[in-house]
Amino acid sequence: MQYSTPAHPLHLGKPENPGYTAYKGHVINPISAQAYEDFVNGALVVDEHGTIVAVGNYEDIQKEHKIDNVRELGTRLITPGFMDLHIHLPQFPQLGKSGQHLLPWLEKYIYPAESRFSDPVHSKAIADWFFKELARNGTTTAVVMTTVHQEATDMAFASAAEIGNRVIMGKVMMTCNAPAQLLESERDAINHSSALCQKWHGYDNDRLLYAFTPRFALTSSESHLKETAKAWKQHPGSYFHTHLSESEEEVKLVAQTFSDHRSYLDVYADNGLIGVNSIFAHAIHLDNADVVKLSKTQSALAHCPSSNFFLKSGVFAYDRLEKAGVKFGLGSDVAAGPQMSLFQVMKDANYIQPQTWLSPAELFYRATLAGAIALNLEHRIGNFKKGKEADFIIIDPTKKSGIARNMMLQPTDEILSSLVFSGDERLIEATFVRGHCIYSVEQKAIEATISSPH
Ligand SMILES: [Zn+2]
Repeated sequence: MQYSTPAHPLHLGKPENPGYTAYKGHVINPISAQAYEDFVNGALVVDEHGTIVAVGNYEDIQKEHKIDNVRELGTRLITPGFMDLHIHLPQFPQLGKSGQHLLPWLEKYIYPAESRFSDPVHSKAIADWFFKELARNGTTTAVVMTTVHQEATDMAFASAAEIGNRVIMGKVMMTCNAPAQLLESERDAINHSSALCQKWHGYDNDRLLYAFTPRFALTSSESHLKETAKAWKQHPGSYFHTHLSESEEEVKLVAQTFSDHRSYLDVYADNGLIGVNSIFAHAIHLDNADVVKLSKTQSALAHCPSSNFFLKSGVFAYDRLEKAGVKFGLGSDVAAGPQMSLFQVMKDANYIQPQTWLSPAELFYRATLAGAIALNLEHRIGNFKKGKEADFIIIDPTKKSGIARNMMLQPTDEILSSLVFSGDERLIEATFVRGHCIYSVEQKAIEATISSPH
């Protein structure tokens, strides 16, 4: 039997020469929910600033461009990096703690874990670990919630700045209905968030961006939500990130607490917290008016199927929201999502739908380009196009036992299917943000294995 395994070792160190570097391998480039470009003998060519110069068949590219450095990747795949639209940094040490619906789960596992972020030593250790793990999982862009602590959030930004991830992040704000040690005044919530935004929003040519982040409606007063909207609007290009309609119990409590508003979404909308650059995680229990409003205002959703399974929160109305033109990508929602890998999230997005089959190509699109569109960053990232920034991953599907060694000889649709349904982070060999390698298996072999600090 003929096997096709990546023939070449990886050599991903700094390019020897200035100029263009060609990553030669099997390039898969999502274009839409249904379509992708496929170059089996392809290349992604990146200039020294991390901008994409060309993508296509290597022979064709060679005729048009002078290539200064070549990275031979054999039959390995080159795809856009994953985009995780909703994840909690401080919850990472609490992965896999199950057995409760949302509100009791927060009380039992999450609030105690978040309280530890008043300790700078702990905060720094977890932040470094978290951003290295994102890179190891092939996630190039993450929309991150931290805790209420300003100093810990500042450290988290510093970690991402150093490690090289692309991040949209914000300090969680909680002004009521939370344990005393996690509560803050409305003034502190806004002032501390604004100070972080001023410091980090736009860092490194917009690699780091700020999101104003009330945890959810229940932990904010109405006046705090109004002040949040003002702060968000005062910082152009910043984001608003929160949870929406996750569990039934939560939705009922919101209806009691904010009885003047038509729906949970309207608690945000009526206070000016909706529209371009807003990201709502979950959005499971919506009515038709909510769906129309999300679409019309170009608000974005983070669909977190693994988390929805884990906390038994319900089923995201995938078809209905897609048909209504609502923008959405995928989120791991660690730690309610038990794994950081977007491979897991992609397969769960298919499994959780009782009737609909989502194709592997569509799931891959949701984990990449759809995320960029949801974040209004598709002009810069999400897929490969001349002029975009080179956020990409190198995948070796043969790395995991149980995936057929000859799979690279199969049609690309079937390679994608094996990836989505059998893949995990072990397949990721390298992760690049803006052309800069932020993780590789080579580097991992040199460094000590990333170990849990706690
Ligand atoms: Zn969440």
